[in-house]
Amino acid sequence: MSNILVTGGTGYIGSHTAIELIKAGHEVLIIDDLSNSTIESLDRIEKLSGKRPIFEQFKLRDSAKVDDFFEEYDIDAIIHFAAYKAVGESVAHPMMYYKNNLVSLANVVDAMTTSKVKNIVFSSSATVYGQPDVLPATEETPVVPAESPYGNTKQIGEQMLIDQTIATENFNAIALRYFNPIGAHESGENGELPTGTPNNLMPFITQTAIGLRDELKIFGDDYNTPDGTAVRDYIHVVDIAKAHVKAIERMIGGKSESQFEIFNLGTGKGFSVKEVIDSFEKTTGEKLNYSVAPRRGGDVEQIYASTDKANKVLGWKAELSLDEMTLSAWKWEKYLASKK
Ligand code: UDP
Repeated sequence: MSNILVTGGTGYIGSHTAIELIKAGHEVLIIDDLSNSTIESLDRIEKLSGKRPIFEQFKLRDSAKVDDFFEEYDIDAIIHFAAYKAVGESVAHPMMYYKNNLVSLANVVDAMTTSKVKNIVFSSSATVYGQPDVLPATEETPVVPAESPYGNTKQIGEQMLIDQTIATENFNAIALRYFNPIGAHESGENGELPTGTPNNLMPFITQTAIGLRDELKIFGDDYNTPDGTAVRDYIHVVDIAKAHVKAIERMIGGKSESQFEIFNLGTGKGFSVKEVIDSFEKTTGEKLNYSVAPRRGGDVEQIYASTDKANKVLGWKAELSLDEMTLSAWKWEKYLASKK
C-alpha cells in the first residue's frame, strides 16, 4: 500500500484512476481546484471504490500551498493530471495555459525535491506526434512542433521532467501519452463532465442523443481513410486508469529501466468518426442526428498507437472494446440526466 497524490483527481481521468488505485489497495490524496470538475466527484469515487480520498481544493500555481501540502502528508508518488486541456481555448489564451500547466508542474516537482518524493507519472498526449508519416505511432515516433499552446505544454512538461531526472539522482518520471480516452465506469455512475459545449467527439455524441445538442457535426468526410472520416485510437478511460496503477507500481517497485520512461496508451486500433457513431447507435439503439461539416483546423487525418512497449514493458493491455466505450458513455449520460 502506498500513498499516492493524484493532482486533478476529481477530473475525468483522475477520478477513474483514483477508483482503480483504491481498488488496488493504495491510499489516495487529491488536490484539485475544481476548475473543470465538481466536488460530487468525491462522492462518486467513494461510492465506486469504497473509500473517500483525502481532498484539498487549491491551485497548484500557489507554491506555498503545494509546499504546505507536501509537509503535511506522507506521499510516496504522484500522478499529475491537473492541467487545462481545451485546445481551442489554449489558442485564444496561451498564457493562461502556460501559467497554469507549466507553473503547476514546476511547483509539484520543486515540492517533490524538497520532500524527497521520487516518483511522478505525467499525463501526456498523442498530440506530440502530430500526423506521423508511419503508423502505428511508437514511442520512438518523432515529436513534432505542437499545433497549439495546449500541445506545447505537454511537450514542455515532458522536457521539464527529463531535465529534472538529469539534475536529480533517484528522480523518476513516466510520461503516459494518451490517445483518445472515452467511455465511463461500467456502473454508469462516473464519467466525463464537460463544462459548456463539448469539444470532444464522445460527449458531443451522448449530449446530442440525449437532446442537449441539436446535431453532431462530423468534421470532414474527405480524408484519405476508408470512409473519409478521421481515424483515432479510442481507449476506455478505465483501461487508461489501470495503466496509471501499473506505472505507479512500476516506479515504486524500483522496476523503471531508466529515470524517464514513455508509454503510449491506446488500443492499437484506429476507428473513424463514422465507426464510433455506428457503434454508439448499435449498442444503445439510439438514432443520432448528424451531418457532415468542413474539417476542423488542426485535426490530423489518422493516428493510432503501437501498444507493444506498454504491453511488454509496462505489462498492461487495453481490454475494453469500442462498443463497451460507447455504451458506458451513454449509461453515464443517462445517469446525469436522471439526476437533474
Ligand atoms: N469530431 C467531430 N465532431 C465533433 C468533435 C470531434 O467530427 O463534434 C472528430 C474530430 O474531428 C476528430 C475526432 O472526432 O477526428 C476526435 O476528436 P476529439 O476532439 O474527440 O479528439 P482529438 O483527436 O481531436 O484529440
